Amino acid sequence: MIPFNKPALVGNELSYIADSVTSGKISGDGKYTKKCHDFFENKYGFKKTLLTTSCTDALEMAAILINIKPGDEVIAPSYTFVSTVNAFVLRGAKIIFADSCKDNPNIDPEHVEKLITKKTKAIVVVHYAGVACDMDRIMDIASGNGLFVVEDAAQAIDSFYKDKLLGSIGDFGAFSFHETKNIIAGEGGLLIINKEQYISRAEIIREKGTNRTSFFRGEVNKYGWVDIGSSFLPSDIIAAYLFAQLENIDLIQARRKELWLRYYDKLRNLELSDKIQLPVIPDYATNNAHMFYIVCRNLDERSRLIAFLKDNKVSAVFHYISLHKSPYFEGEYSGEQLLNCEKYSDQLLRLPLYYELKFEEVDFIVSLINKFYIEV
Ligand SMILES: *Cc1c(COP(=O)(O)O)cnc(C)c1O
Repeated sequence: MIPFNKPALVGNELSYIADSVTSGKISGDGKYTKKCHDFFENKYGFKKTLLTTSCTDALEMAAILINIKPGDEVIAPSYTFVSTVNAFVLRGAKIIFADSCKDNPNIDPEHVEKLITKKTKAIVVVHYAGVACDMDRIMDIASGNGLFVVEDAAQAIDSFYKDKLLGSIGDFGAFSFHETKNIIAGEGGLLIINKEQYISRAEIIREKGTNRTSFFRGEVNKYGWVDIGSSFLPSDIIAAYLFAQLENIDLIQARRKELWLRYYDKLRNLELSDKIQLPVIPDYATNNAHMFYIVCRNLDERSRLIAFLKDNKVSAVFHYISLHKSPYFEGEYSGEQLLNCEKYSDQLLRLPLYYELKFEEVDFIVSLINKFYIEV
């Protein structure tokens, strides 16, 4: 079976974990956590980053930092993972779902603009498949209406909007290191803080509402309870795995891009004959090869293709069920139909893409898809 995903082990993951364990400090903010922070702040140039136990946690921290209160409205795409909105729902926000763009699953800025009311407090964008949303438009809309922008950049490490790194453009960004992402730690995340004024409160919220981080820097002589918070920091063992991956980020990214391009080139003929659609990367965006997907012509065709690939030992998977149609939210939803979002829910299919995938395996998968469209 060719699996959909396989977690990568590319370098010193195991030796760094052993080193972390034998060094005598495996709780949060140890030596490998610091190395990861330095990597993101020095090498990537983010203003301030904090490792978290997941991207979900990083988003929950962002929701606390922007003081979301019951009754606030938060605009978010419906075609996304639950955490994008759950983080804000936990603080009492009302989620207002926006549609995807016509030619890619990212949030449609024109629709966002129509959904703004006096109660809107924030826009949450998701850079789907690591491909940037139209951030100039989003930032203009936000600044014109005094709104916060949070980038759910879970899939978007090492990707750009024009010359800006994704995660660095809004007030906050969040990465995921879940084993299905490009750079992994099993479970893990990063909060990116782009404005100086939120840094010290972010450190407090991450440390159970205490000023322990500042105590360890020697800035106060005792620490205590100063705000709300939770335990959002990961063990240094997680950071040890992550740092070994970060050291190899160029290698991992180069391989993923090769695989992505091979799919793209070899499936082009099916797009030219209008059987499938391939991903569209807008001029302002880069491709970090997080995901390779195709868009089938309808739900039934996609289901048959998934079954055909499975019969031939290839695991291909669909993606999000529109959140506005999910069991938790459906009864509350009173907005219009989100047609582009529903198209991607029904028709988008993700193909295997991981560091160890072989060219011959890509070629085999492509040959099966060709066979499906020609013979089945
Ligand atoms: C993976 C993912 C998340 C959740 O990341 P975790 O690290 O598992 O919490 C959130 N949003 C999007 C868009 C994702 O792809």
